[in-house]
Amino acid sequence: MLSLSQMLGNVSKAHFQSPDDWARSVTDVLRDAAIYHQAGNGFYRAQCDALGVDPAAINDINDLQDLPLLPIGMFKRPDAQVLLTCSLADVETETSSSGTRGAPSLARRNSETVTRALVGLIGTYREFFSLSGGAGLFLNPSDPEVSEMGLLKDFNILNSVFDDHAYLVADQAFDAREALEQLRRWKGHMIRHIVCPPFVVGRLLRFLEQENFNVRLDPYSMIITLGGWKRHTAETIPAEGFRERCHDLLAVRPGNVRDMYGMIESNMLAVECHLHRKHVPPWCYISIRDPDQIGKELAPGETGTIAVLDALNTSYPGFLLTDDVGDVETGTCGCGRTGQIINFRGRGPGGGLGHCPVSIERYLGSETGKDR
Ligand SMILES: [Zn+2]
Repeated sequence: MLSLSQMLGNVSKAHFQSPDDWARSVTDVLRDAAIYHQAGNGFYRAQCDALGVDPAAINDINDLQDLPLLPIGMFKRPDAQVLLTCSLADVETETSSSGTRGAPSLARRNSETVTRALVGLIGTYREFFSLSGGAGLFLNPSDPEVSEMGLLKDFNILNSVFDDHAYLVADQAFDAREALEQLRRWKGHMIRHIVCPPFVVGRLLRFLEQENFNVRLDPYSMIITLGGWKRHTAETIPAEGFRERCHDLLAVRPGNVRDMYGMIESNMLAVECHLHRKHVPPWCYISIRDPDQIGKELAPGETGTIAVLDALNTSYPGFLLTDDVGDVETGTCGCGRTGQIINFRGRGPGGGLGHCPVSIERYLGSETGKDR
């Protein structure tokens, strides 16, 4: 079994635990996190009390589904600071996103959470991409719907493993020629990689097709995507066809086209192995919920609302009910890694706020809430 520090110190080892050790390790780190937030966060304690849940009683991985969840829509509220376990003065970063619908979401992180998340992300990138050196072409959309600060931050950390990089703004007027020119400048000197949301790669591929250009990147080049298609859903290319086109038009091996899944409110970033299966980090647990009965966890393989439990966060409870829909698989992947695989299937209808046992209004109106 591994502690949280041991997982962060050796991300690779944590991904290759035996299935039993994985279950015990993830249960332990999440139980400790829940105890921490229950003790230090009145709002979360009120949720535990309302559900009659004692985090200290969590003993088995099947008990994790009992933990109260914070609906992700709460992070859009102006009074979202009630979600914090740390004090506002301890907040180091405020990450905001306009998200896919409605008001911006604001995720606040203290320095301990930022440090843990950075260490976890670097370990994860190195585990899955084995990148060391080379050049990264970052195609960042300025589109406010996509240019989530969290997404860009995740990419910036990835940048630290490259020898050279270039940022291009890839908005509606995305200049594919400029991107190709940059790739040409690195040719023969460095292994070239492309990092951006999938719809930007889609535009680059369309340009190559229209202009009948033939670009050959390098044998070990990677295309790394994050962020979904969001409002560009009309341009969506199914994953397999997308990888085939990357191979045909950019000569990137399909195994080196890797997608990731995450959201700014969580430190959880699931990254594809070479078999294109998105591995949940060993310090996180995904619980798939019945949309009609949110307290009920669905069995592996069944599709429902995605809940993310993350042990890294000390700024607020990292136990979130998302608006996304998907399913999980548990066991040993063909790549040898254990734990959970997440399959993101799309956006749900949202509006999960009603699923919180004690609303922010009720909490702030109560005696306990007034003490804050
Ligand atoms: Zn795998």
